Amino acid sequence: MIIALYAGSFDPITNGHIDIVTRASNLFDKVIIGIFATPDKRLTFTTEERVDLARRAVAHLKKVEVRSYEGITVEFAREVGARVMVRGLRMVGDFEWEFEMAMMNKLLAPDLELVCFMASQQYQFLSASLMKEVSSLGGDISSLVPKHVAEALKKKSLGSSR
Ligand code: ADP
Repeated sequence: MIIALYAGSFDPITNGHIDIVTRASNLFDKVIIGIFATPDKRLTFTTEERVDLARRAVAHLKKVEVRSYEGITVEFAREVGARVMVRGLRMVGDFEWEFEMAMMNKLLAPDLELVCFMASQQYQFLSASLMKEVSSLGGDISSLVPKHVAEALKKKSLGSSR
């Protein structure tokens, strides 16, 4: 049984992430979305909110599980028995950082294999941060995130404008 870990901040989960996890679940026996609790960036959603939004987004994918974690990603991979780390690569910007991280992870956990999926064409330019900016300015993001995520974003921006 091959378990794959798809780790990230998922602040919040987007259709680009869902596309990757769907494709990964066609290959592996189980895919765990690992939501990193304390990434080095300003978060819009709490860990619990990010987990909840992701869980609802992948409820239809029976092989996918959502969990949060702290600390080093490769340690979490070991803890959940993952042999594979899944990443999504967008054409512009992702490669160098992903390569650097992959080399570090290989050093820390040589037995863990990395599998990268090329982002699908329609999500190449979708990042959670840009999508959030568009949403906070009232732009239509309905083709970029599931409905419940768009609603959660709307609520957040209403809250912060008070
Ligand atoms: P972001 O880079 O949007 O903040 P995360 O840290 O949650 O996202 O990223 C988790 C993984 O998902 C990374 O491998 C990232 O490159 C990938 N990813 C992010 N957005 C997309 C997208 N639109 N299409 C494919 N993969 C993506």
